[in-house]
Amino acid sequence: TEMIDKEVVIIGSGYGGSVAALRLCEKGIPVTLLEMGLNWEKSGEKFSPMINPGHSAAWLKTKTIAPFFNLFNLDKFTGTLDRLDFEHIKVWVGRGVGGGSLVNGGMAVTPKKEYFKEIFPNLDTEKFYSHYFPLANKELKTNVASEEFLKDCHFYKFNRVGEEEAHKAGFKTVRVPNVYDFNYMEKEYKEEVPRSALAGEVIYGNNHGKNSLDKTYLKKATATGKLEILDLHQVNHISQNPDKSYTIDISVINTKGEEIQHKIINAKKLILSAGTMGSIELLLKSSAKTQLPIDENVGKEWGNNGNFMTGRNWVKAFSGGTGFKQSTIPVGGIDHWEDKEHPFFVEIAPLPMGLNVATALYLMVNKLKKFGEVKYDLKAQKLDLNWDQSHTAHMKDNAKHFLRTMNNANGGTRSHILFHNGFGADVCYHPLGGIVLGKATDQFGRLNGHQNLYVIDGSLIPGTIGVNPFVTITAIAEYCMEEIIKKDFV
Ligand code: FAD
Repeated sequence: TEMIDKEVVIIGSGYGGSVAALRLCEKGIPVTLLEMGLNWEKSGEKFSPMINPGHSAAWLKTKTIAPFFNLFNLDKFTGTLDRLDFEHIKVWVGRGVGGGSLVNGGMAVTPKKEYFKEIFPNLDTEKFYSHYFPLANKELKTNVASEEFLKDCHFYKFNRVGEEEAHKAGFKTVRVPNVYDFNYMEKEYKEEVPRSALAGEVIYGNNHGKNSLDKTYLKKATATGKLEILDLHQVNHISQNPDKSYTIDISVINTKGEEIQHKIINAKKLILSAGTMGSIELLLKSSAKTQLPIDENVGKEWGNNGNFMTGRNWVKAFSGGTGFKQSTIPVGGIDHWEDKEHPFFVEIAPLPMGLNVATALYLMVNKLKKFGEVKYDLKAQKLDLNWDQSHTAHMKDNAKHFLRTMNNANGGTRSHILFHNGFGADVCYHPLGGIVLGKATDQFGRLNGHQNLYVIDGSLIPGTIGVNPFVTITAIAEYCMEEIIKKDFV
């Protein structure tokens, strides 16, 4: 076992961890970033498309783990996409340097001001909308596709059909910003550069075009010369020392997931950015194993951000369906959030399987009516999530209402090929909460009862934010790090 001393350690290289790394490094503070997944850029490995899954497709699995059509066998490898299976819900997460930004759809949505205020009554809403959100969007390189391009590009037929049908059904649609570089995509379309979004790449990583965190925050942080990124470093648990520093127990793994070295790092300050599920697990597990003191609110106020997947069949079947070739990057949404009876937001999602299955896929974001709670089962050595159909019943009602309205106006049926009965109540891409800002931490992410332990990631958001969450996670990380650096790093 190797023992090392460090000043500042961050666990996890997703949105929270990347913001923390950049802001600390900019101030000249040396940072060590531990990431259990692979540094893809350094490794020279390529990302694979959905229809031809390779090394990047799954975290140490022998079969693919997409939400549907898992017909592919795999070699066990430290891939980018992982799935945590609970009894009534499956939670997908990204692994690798860049975290969720490697596998996500890149939809960069700023939440509605009113809803943000409702979820975070103690934050300065005006400052968030005038400063932290614009800052997050600038650093993340959020951009919008040109209407000209979307109108003609045959890879966006699924979106045109989706919007047309939504309008016919009386719904309002909105254009959704993204971090995928649409200028690059236009060049892809003209075949001037290698194709990525137009070649079926997304949930197993993009080889080009997408401004994932390794191309934005982490790139800038690396350029300061102050950032050390240690990939394939899986943190097992942490403990607190009498001098209020932390000891981090780490398994260094190979790409087959086997431990090749055991490492102990002592850190004066520790930032947990392992993502909602990862940070909750580290705290609960460490509390059980090393008696790390944790606040009683850790694990509470967890939510799926109202995620609910659904689909329709025979969408414009006779006019050629939604298209054989589809861009993997969504650009359209249905905004039904203001409706009193059925408030929801719907992403018009692509189904880039290379088949014209005459199917439309939708990812709904609903409100949350009931929180879940996460616990740690020490005996089974895994997380336990208190979540069942009672949490998603109103989301299913919304999905029924949405599909009925769409089908009445346009024809079609619920998609039984995609989901059992057409409803994917168990699909969660947006796990949030469990270490809620101002509850388990102070107003800036300092874990209650600790001086040198911080949580900066999606777990700070109490279960729901009404839209895809990474812009909010980034903005909150910016806000927390500004204060923490000012007060705790003098
Ligand atoms: P993460 O990005 O999850 O990063 C946490 C990192 O910590 C990971 O790299 C993980 O490997 C690492 N880690 C965890 N545990 C340990 C440990 N013990 N030791 C070492 N490292 C560890 N959001 C949007 O806003 N728009 C979208 O279009 C969108 N699409 C999505 C599509 C998919 C398929 C998925 C899965 C998610 C999508 N999301 C989207 C959600 C978004 O990606 C997440 O909300 C976001 O990545 C969470 O950021 P984070 O900083 O909380 O943590």
